[in-house]
Formats: sequence, structure tokens, C-alpha cells
Amino acid sequence: MAEKDNHENLKERIGFHEDTMLPEREVLYSFLLDMMPDTIWMLDRDMKPLFVSPSSLKTLGYSPEERLRQHLSDMVTPETYARVVDRFKSEQKKEQEEEVDPDRIVTMDMEYYHREGHTVWLENRIRAIRDQDGQVIGLFGVSRDITERRRLEDMLRERIKELSLLQSVANFIESTDSLEKVFQKTVNEIHRGLSFPDCACARITLDGTVFQTANFRKTDKRIYTYITVRGERLGTLEICYLCATPAGTETPFLDEERDLMKAIAKLLGRVVERRQAEEQLKESERKYRELSILDELSGLYNSRYFYRQIEKEVDRINRYGGSLSLILLDIDNFKVFNDKFGHVEGDEALSRLGEVIRRCIRKTDSAYRYGGEEFTVLLPVTRCEEGRVIAERIRMAFKNETFTTGRGESAHLTVSLGIAGYRPEEDIKEFVRRADQYMYRAKKEGRDKVCVEIPFEGQ
Ligand code: GH3
Ligand code: MG
Ligand code: MG
Repeated sequence: MAEKDNHENLKERIGFHEDTMLPEREVLYSFLLDMMPDTIWMLDRDMKPLFVSPSSLKTLGYSPEERLRQHLSDMVTPETYARVVDRFKSEQKKEQEEEVDPDRIVTMDMEYYHREGHTVWLENRIRAIRDQDGQVIGLFGVSRDITERRRLEDMLRERIKELSLLQSVANFIESTDSLEKVFQKTVNEIHRGLSFPDCACARITLDGTVFQTANFRKTDKRIYTYITVRGERLGTLEICYLCATPAGTETPFLDEERDLMKAIAKLLGRVVERRQAEEQLKESERKYRELSILDELSGLYNSRYFYRQIEKEVDRINRYGGSLSLILLDIDNFKVFNDKFGHVEGDEALSRLGEVIRRCIRKTDSAYRYGGEEFTVLLPVTRCEEGRVIAERIRMAFKNETFTTGRGESAHLTVSLGIAGYRPEEDIKEFVRRADQYMYRAKKEGRDKVCVEIPFEGQ
């Protein structure tokens, strides 16, 4: 049969041993050497090659014949060569000092020159060749190309670096209370996630504010991404390389680095969103507090807040001394005005009086709608006589206000004001009652008038 003949033919060609059934050694070895991606080599103890297998042509571009004319120091980088010599010495020292396996395998990563100029990393598994006395006379080794493995390891290291950057950004976002600090820290840290951290600079522009590294300069080696807050592009995060071309690359930024930047920008956008929500909450709390102490119609504080404040002021005087005056004022003949023009016009007058009082008082004074058409003004660090100036100002200003009614008629209103000064240890009710008395005196004396208490001894 033709098949059988073929089988026998092949067997004959290769030459199998009758008793071991193994192929001829030479055939087997040459198969092995030709097909192995790894390179097998032997060096004498002066680091000169004795044998190099054919695959060295594939891995490093040198044929075995060329290799045999070289020395190890020609094949590897100076750093690697120094490391090999050191390791050789330390292994020998180890043999003198302790019991070690003479057939042990030493593994070393070495950087070789390729014929085309670049370098290639090979992992070498090395074993000693010994004479009968056990003395090392050479080295036997197998080299394997680990360029790809190292590339993957480098990539992994990059990813770990990026992850750790993301994590630290997330961490200081949690622990820092001011947004400004978060942005400044981010631009300061972001270079850590890049392939060429030493020549990177970064900038964040947010709502017109700029945060940047001290070395920031806009170059054409730049990537940027938007910081989006509730779907709106509120800012940008940009990174530039300052070197001409880091490591000779044309487009120095990796896709992973772009992704990392986007992830950081997203984080920052969310921080801004969260902070804005917090601000809004604070603002509405503040408004709510204001509402509970404000009188809506006049825009002044309400009587509840008046009692809280007067208590504080009185307390202060009783502790540290000083003066405090109180103006109490009431619109004259307001019932008539209301009856004549209606309640809505009356309300408008109350609101206008609120504006007038706010305009006439000083920063340290505070005004309140005390009751229906009665108002109070607290004047800290002010004696009655000084308070009269403010009271007169209010009286004149309100008198000059013109009210145009729905029927097109114009009208004027006046107020009567009483002023009293606080007497040490006096009850608050008594203090207010006295201001009220002076206001009534002004009414009695013809309205549109200020009545001031005669200063009490010691005031
Ligand atoms: P006097 O000069 O003696 O103070 O006379 P008056 O009419 O102002 O005094 P009275 O106390 O008799 O009347 C106060 C009026 O103020 C009664 C009411 O119609 C009016 N008033 C009180 N609160 C309000 C308010 O919130 N809105 C309006 N439109 N009027 C108010
Ligand atoms: Mg009244
Ligand atoms: Mg009145």
C-alpha cells in the first residue's frame, strides 16, 4: 500500500533507533533548534559565545555565525552587562559561603541590541556548565522574548497609576470642603496619571475662574474635555505637554489617558452639582428663616423678631453699659385713609412706610412692624436726642410721599413718633410702654410730630 510505503519511507529518512524507537539525535535537535522561538546559547566563563541557536536571527537579527564573533558586552546594554557580571560574581560567592544546588537555574531579564538599533528584552534561564571538579567553565542558557510581556506589564502599571489618581481625586473631593481647593488639587495631581508626568501641565477653567499648575503653558500637544454640570458645559479641563515631543511620539496622549481625563471631569462636574444643591438648600433655609422673622407687607422685621432683638440689646447694655433708644411710630388718622381709599391702598401705604423707614435708618439700626400701623426702630449706641434726628428724617420723608388712589386723587399721610431711652435694669415692657407714651403725646400735640423723652439722669 502506498500509505505504508510512505510511512516506512519517512522512518528510513529520519532514522529511528531500533531499540529505543527515538529519532536520530541530530534530526531531533535540528528540528528543535529550528522550531523553538527561544534561543539556546552557551558562553564560556569570559562571556564569549560558544554556541547560539538559529532563532537568534529572528529575535535579534543576528545569525549564529555573527554572534560567535561577538562578546556578550557587544550584545547587551551596558546596564545589563554590568548586572550580569555582578550576578555572576554574587552567585559564585554564594557557592563558597553556603550549600547551593550546583544545577540551579538563575533567571535574569536582559536588554539586548537588535541589529536594527532598537533594544529587545529577553528573559534568560541560565545554568552553569562545570568540569569534573565542579568548577564553572561556562554557562548554558535559553532566552525568551519578553517584549510583549513587558509591554503588558508597563500598560498594567499605567492603568494602576491612573486608577490611583482617580481614587485620590475622589478622596480629596470627599475630604475637602472648598470647591476651589478641589480644583487646584486636581490640576496639581493630574500629571501623575500620564505617561510623561514630568513635562505635563494642567488647567481647569470653570465659570470664568482659572485653576492651573504653576508651569501651565498652552501648547499644541494638548487634550481637553468639558466639565458638564446638569447637562451644561460649565468649564474645561485641559492638559498640555511642554516638551517638544515626549519620547519622540507624534500624538503623545493615549486613549486611556483621554478616558481618564473624562472620568475626572465627570467627577468634578458631579462635585459642582452637589455643591450647588447644597448652596440652594442653604439659601432656602436662609430664606425660610428670613420669612419667619420678616413682615411681608412692609419688608421690615416682625414683632416676634423685635422682642428677640430688643432682649439682646438690653442684655448687652446691662452687661457692658451704653445707650439704646427706641422709636415707636404710628400712622395718623389711618382709619380715615382706609375708609376713604380702601384697604388695598392702605396696605400700599404700609409698604411705602416700610421703604421710607429702611431708607432713613443707619446700618446698625433695625426697624420692625410692631402692630397694624405701628412701627418700631431700635437704635443701639444712640441717645434719645441723637435718635430724634432719625425720627425727624422718617417723619419728613413719609410726609413727602404722594399716594395716588384708584380714582386718580392724590393724598399724603403723616406719622407721629415717640422716642425713649433705655434705663439700666429696666423691664423691656416698661421701656416700650414709655416710647408708646411719647408717641401718644405727639398725637395729642397735633400729630405729624416727634416727641422725645427728657433724658433720664445718668443717660
Ligand atoms: P390715630 O392718628 O389716632 O392713630 O388714628 P388712626 O385712625 O390711625 O387710629 P386707629 O387705631 O383708630 O385706627 C388704626 C387703623 O389702621 C385701623 C385699620 O383700618 C388700620 N390698619 C391696621 N392694620 C392695617 C393693615 O394691615 N392694613 C390696612 N390697610 N389697614 C390697617
Ligand atoms: Mg394705631
Ligand atoms: Mg394710627
